[in-house]
Amino acid sequence: MTVEFISVGTEILLGNIVNTNAAYLSERCAALGLSCYHQSVVGDNEERLEDAIRLALSRSDILILSGGLGPTKDDLTKEVTAKVFGKELYEDEHTKERIKDFFRRMRSDQVTPNNWKQAMVPEGAKVIDNHNGTAPGLIIEENGKTAILLPGPPNEIRPMFEQDVAPYLDRLEPEGIYSKMVKICGIGESKAETMIADLMDSQTNPTIAPYAKTGEVHLRVTAKAADEDKAEELLKPVVDELYRRFGDKIYTTEEDVTLEASIVRILAERGLTVTTAESCTGGLLAGRLMNVPGASCVYQEGYITYANDAKERLLGVKRETLMKYGAVSCQTAHEMARGAAGTAGADAALSVTGIAGPDGGTEEKPVGLVYVGCYVKGHVHVEEFRFTGNRDKNREYAVARALTLLREELLKNCKGNCNAAGTEV
Ligand code: ATP
Repeated sequence: MTVEFISVGTEILLGNIVNTNAAYLSERCAALGLSCYHQSVVGDNEERLEDAIRLALSRSDILILSGGLGPTKDDLTKEVTAKVFGKELYEDEHTKERIKDFFRRMRSDQVTPNNWKQAMVPEGAKVIDNHNGTAPGLIIEENGKTAILLPGPPNEIRPMFEQDVAPYLDRLEPEGIYSKMVKICGIGESKAETMIADLMDSQTNPTIAPYAKTGEVHLRVTAKAADEDKAEELLKPVVDELYRRFGDKIYTTEEDVTLEASIVRILAERGLTVTTAESCTGGLLAGRLMNVPGASCVYQEGYITYANDAKERLLGVKRETLMKYGAVSCQTAHEMARGAAGTAGADAALSVTGIAGPDGGTEEKPVGLVYVGCYVKGHVHVEEFRFTGNRDKNREYAVARALTLLREELLKNCKGNCNAAGTEV
């Protein structure tokens, strides 16, 4: 079945509030197996709202409207929807009692005559009690079309949707949406897409949707199925095929696992520790690792060595190396990684040195030039990158590539009883 949303409110059109209701409804309806092809925002204007409702009902089975159910004159959603469905409004005693009760509980003497407008409901509509406000939700069904009217405030619409609307929609659409997120590092977006072009061209159920992240590509594999077991039957062959194509570039298929979490898991499983020596990323890399709960079991200390003197003093980088090759060089990255591992007594170390920009670039060493060093068990591997972003992006990319390099080196040099996703097998 198809569902469509209309968010009502001039303040959304003007950008005064962010349309979080649309994001929330989209996500929830997708999870319930409904297909959404259209969404719109309409101001508090009777004519335009009527046009939008008629258009939505002409092309979608279910229309969900949010906002414009309040007591004031510019709250028009209910009146206009009732007009489109040819329904009269009548005063619903039950809702009127609930409104009175709401104000009694609030100990408020603010109840004004226009509040009773909210007790008016279209004939034949199902009324959904609002436990967090005064405007009830409404469901109007006619000729195979359904309109669901919900209040605008997120703290009202969300509980109402979860408690009453979701179960109602679930009965209308018995199939649900299930998905797996295949997360890949070390392969660019265009290459990843090329590698699955045939799968994407022939996809129906499940579907594969790629998302580019900084230094990563995520592939969401989504199946429509009656239950979780049936969904798993559909998802598994596709995920297996992705493993065949991307191998250990896939670091997880778990929604909540980040690249850094997968690395901390690999280190912890093998009883290894890691440290970091950062110049241009100034602690961002250590911060990413520290984002992972429990990172303290693999990370004890790290170094921000921005100045040459700090690189010499804390990491033992040789002055001749700095003089001869410069701070941003393969040789310096190499010595930084080895030195950090030695100082911290860690099994692995990452180093980053580069020119993040906007200044400091030369023809020979342009902005975006970054060297990442990775020490693992006595072996140092350095990679050179040439990023083309601004200062923030270059630093973000450097961190992502450093994490990817560490993961690759750990898988290569520290074989344990782990598969590519870092899980015990
Ligand atoms: P009320 O009974 O409070 O008047 P209502 O159903 O008439 O509710 P609106 O008046 O349209 O809803 O909006 C009330 C408030 O709800 C807005 O000021 C805003 O804070 C929030 N809101 C409305 N629509 C949205 C939306 N689409 N996304 C996020 N918040 C929203």
